[in-house]
Amino acid sequence: MHSWSSGLSPHPGPALPRGQALLNDPLLNKGTAFTEIERDALGLRGLLPARVFTLAEQAARVLENLRKIKEPLDRYVFLTNLQNRNETLFYKVITDHLEEMVPLIYTPTVGQACLQFGVIFRRPRGLYVSIHDRGRVAEVLAHWPFNDIRMIVVTDGERILGLGDLGALGMGIPIGKLSLYTACAGVHPAYTLPVMLDVGTNNATLREDPFYIGLRQPRCTGAEYDAFVDEFVDAVRHVFPRALLQWEDFGNTHAFHLLQRHRQRICSFNDDIQGTAAVALAGLIGALRITGGALRDQRLLFLGAGEAGTGIADLFVAALRDEGVPEHEARARCWFIDSHGLVVRSRLAGLAPHKVPYAHDLPAVPRLDEALEAFQPTALIGVSGTAQAFTQPILARMSALNRRPIIFALSNPTSKAECTAEQAYGWSEGRAIFASGSPFAPVTCHGQTITPGQGNNVYIFPGIGLGALISDAREVSDAMFLIAARTLAHLVTPADLSQGRVYPALSQIREVSREIAIAVAAEAYDKGLSRSMPPTDLRTAVQESMFEPQYVPYV
Ligand code: NAD
Repeated sequence: MHSWSSGLSPHPGPALPRGQALLNDPLLNKGTAFTEIERDALGLRGLLPARVFTLAEQAARVLENLRKIKEPLDRYVFLTNLQNRNETLFYKVITDHLEEMVPLIYTPTVGQACLQFGVIFRRPRGLYVSIHDRGRVAEVLAHWPFNDIRMIVVTDGERILGLGDLGALGMGIPIGKLSLYTACAGVHPAYTLPVMLDVGTNNATLREDPFYIGLRQPRCTGAEYDAFVDEFVDAVRHVFPRALLQWEDFGNTHAFHLLQRHRQRICSFNDDIQGTAAVALAGLIGALRITGGALRDQRLLFLGAGEAGTGIADLFVAALRDEGVPEHEARARCWFIDSHGLVVRSRLAGLAPHKVPYAHDLPAVPRLDEALEAFQPTALIGVSGTAQAFTQPILARMSALNRRPIIFALSNPTSKAECTAEQAYGWSEGRAIFASGSPFAPVTCHGQTITPGQGNNVYIFPGIGLGALISDAREVSDAMFLIAARTLAHLVTPADLSQGRVYPALSQIREVSREIAIAVAAEAYDKGLSRSMPPTDLRTAVQESMFEPQYVPYV
């Protein structure tokens, strides 16, 4: 009987396959690392070349081949093929080289991969559930070869990064996020399931594309859409009763109400709203360790009033409430500009519900520079998906208003960032405290090398998910995101700050995820949100649950 290498392990399942079937199973395959004894015992003799390699030697070969490839998208395809062949080796390469690999399997390259998903598509990964499956969604879920799923990332592809409606091509995002759950938080890959809910697409170009892989029809909406998602949630509860659901890259007409509608029905959270909020709040707290300012004195001007923006503001307000600041005062410290200008009371009739709490009694102002002048913010937060919206005059004015202006250009992928790291530092005489959603290389400004932090929810969701999973949480509460933000901010070292970085290095992410998981699980136990008894030593339990990519002997 085989077992998983380490980590919180799924049930071993049926007997170990043999021969070619074993080589074809990416979770079990070791390729040229099968030992002599295994080759004899498992019918592999002759199916592999004679030399037996170690995992380290295989990883070195992969790296050498990978680095010969020039284009990031080709590297993505190379890594996807490896993942489909040998997951242990894939995760060995990823976890040992996180700074190099995360941008390839996630933003920015995953954005390019989604755009090309139909072209680079070789073999399916995850489950595609279409609106035509209504009435038999549970049956479709039951086709998945593993029955003990704990972590599902689901999208309907409507708002993929800042790239808009990519329909079924958006599947690249759940796949990438779940790879990060394994790489960054050690959730065993057999526990994870990416799901695409295909309800059509309003992207006419895709619908007309002969190679488009999804339903070539406009999106279904309204009651039919809601009934479909309801059925999906019920089916998950039935088929995978211990699964945590992460809502991912839904358009904002659905994202908020799906979260409200389902978060008590199934343990779930929306990463774009809540995960982004925690990472941005952590960045603000980190930035204040540089400026010496207090959270309650900050004035945040957001460009973009969608899931990310209002999610960040809601968590900021929750943090201030915790400090005793009245809610209306905290909300007054957040101003929003959306595609129609400043969010103000005179626009109330046409505003989406998530913007209403931030519709202040102010004159309507159409432009960012005017709002900047009126509000004089301490922090400018870009979550609009609008490239280059933070222009030179805007950043120069922020720098005149603040000794250390906080500039977060969080839109993804890189091509959608509101400004680049070089622009933020260059146009602020090196004084900006800058973070971006996608990574930027270090910048040398006035003789000083500054390393921009990546304000990306990859710092948050793996730890939140692992914490919820360990504690068998019934619910992912808002308080857990506040705790995650504070934990992350606490892990930023003086050395990080001295380089201008308000987040830990990406290479620290497994430690970050572990600490967040411990804090989140502790909160679940404390608040009665767990369905299991707390372990005697939570830290050890979390540590031991984390999957390490290693081969274990099968015989
Ligand atoms: P969303 O569609 O919910 O909201 C986008 C908002 O931007 C809307 O309010 C829209 O009116 C506004 N907007 C669009 N064009 C504008 C313009 N020219 N001027 C002013 N406002 C404009 O999307 P979202 O989920 O909030 O995501 C927005 C961006 O944030 C995306 O690019 C996404 O990739 C990024 N994001 C980054 C992270 C991260 O970890 N860094 C996390 C989540 C989202």
